[in-house]
Amino acid sequence: MSENPTGGPQLPQERRLVTAIPGPISQELQQRKTTAVARGVGTMLPVYVVAAGGGVVVDADGNSLIDLGSGIAVTTVGNSAPRVSSAVAEQVAAFTHTCFMITPYDGYVEVAEALNRITPGSHDKRSVLFNSGAEAVENAVKIARAHTKRQAVAVFDHAYHGRTNLTMAMTAKNMPYKHGFGPFAAEVYRAPLSYPFRDSGVDGAEAARRAVDVIEKQVGAENLAAVVIEPIQGEGGFIVPAQGFLPALAEWCRANDVVFIADEVQTGFARTGELFACDHEGVVPDLIVTAKGIAGGLPLAAVTGRAEIMDAPHVGGLGGTYGGNPIACAAALAVIETIESEGLVARARAIGKLMHERLTAIQAADPRIGEVRGRGAMMAVELVKPGSTEPDADLTKALAAAAHAQGLVVLTCGTYGNVLRFLPPLSIPDHLLTEALDVLEQIFKDT
Ligand SMILES: *Cc1c(COP(=O)(O)O)cnc(C)c1O
Repeated sequence: MSENPTGGPQLPQERRLVTAIPGPISQELQQRKTTAVARGVGTMLPVYVVAAGGGVVVDADGNSLIDLGSGIAVTTVGNSAPRVSSAVAEQVAAFTHTCFMITPYDGYVEVAEALNRITPGSHDKRSVLFNSGAEAVENAVKIARAHTKRQAVAVFDHAYHGRTNLTMAMTAKNMPYKHGFGPFAAEVYRAPLSYPFRDSGVDGAEAARRAVDVIEKQVGAENLAAVVIEPIQGEGGFIVPAQGFLPALAEWCRANDVVFIADEVQTGFARTGELFACDHEGVVPDLIVTAKGIAGGLPLAAVTGRAEIMDAPHVGGLGGTYGGNPIACAAALAVIETIESEGLVARARAIGKLMHERLTAIQAADPRIGEVRGRGAMMAVELVKPGSTEPDADLTKALAAAAHAQGLVVLTCGTYGNVLRFLPPLSIPDHLLTEALDVLEQIFKDT
């Protein structure tokens, strides 16, 4: 399981820089972007892509970059993974759309059955499909409200749930997600998270009590429809809560008839070394929201959960023109088959082990790395002023820029903008991952 097991286009699996990054063709395209595309859509690393697969992204100038981003945890099975490409091609040739709410098709039903089978818990489940993570989060809240006949929703510090109106209210960080875009939706309340690096000494149970205390005192369980949480915060900084935090929250929800919703949009589909991040602690959410890694890059999202909760909304209350598009469904079925037949859960664990070992070794020589954390192929380093927990966003920017110039696609995140995150596709061969970590080690020495 080392050399590019899931394929992708037959691209040479190498880091190859033939121009400065970005090269002249990309720079010209970026000029056109500036005059054609709304400014609000930023581009982190403006190399214009012409092909991608395995562990590389190839740009218009002929540079081949090592992919440590997977298009934000989307191409987990690899870009243009062979099963996904052929399933999509076959479906495109058969039919592209009918609208599942008008004349349905079996792909949607099959995806729902697969999600009901692979998500945590063996209870009776139902699923509903959408186009984006944010849309699915919104619908999970709708479903929880219909079921409980309550309105309030509890979310957490450092949360990211999307950019639509309700999910902006649920997202914690002002810049760039919310600034100037209010007013936001009502009845969204924020509770403190477990953030071991920044609240040392507070264990999972204590952190859960702290959160529940805020919810009980400021909202009241009898008003609360749902608690929505990412089992590992994504945009917020790859924050892995202290052990016991998630199970205690889920337990409190169960005792108070509050719907426990896991937003696994970023953590799902083998990314963390389990099929879902909730599986690490045996947490069974009432509803689980998935997107990103679900369909290998095709736009698809889902809400899956307990049948009695999922069936609460009236007929016609859920849906959308494109939700569960047949091409996206074909891709999702191919993704699930790829994960299962290629052993990608184990592959994510192996990638995580390799990254954690190397990053911990870099940390041992560099006091600016406050913490190495994450699970599986979702790893990050939090950067601080040496000897403190004071965030160092400037250093993070400088390191990311240096990595980009050296042909590594790396992303930053974190409420304080001081986290460098790594989300390689599970199709990356070991030699490329090792080379990327060698380059990173050198960048830490030089920056
Ligand atoms: C990306 C993300 C979303 C939003 O998904 P979109 O498809 O961009 O709408 C929601 N929740 C989490 C945890 C995410 O990482």
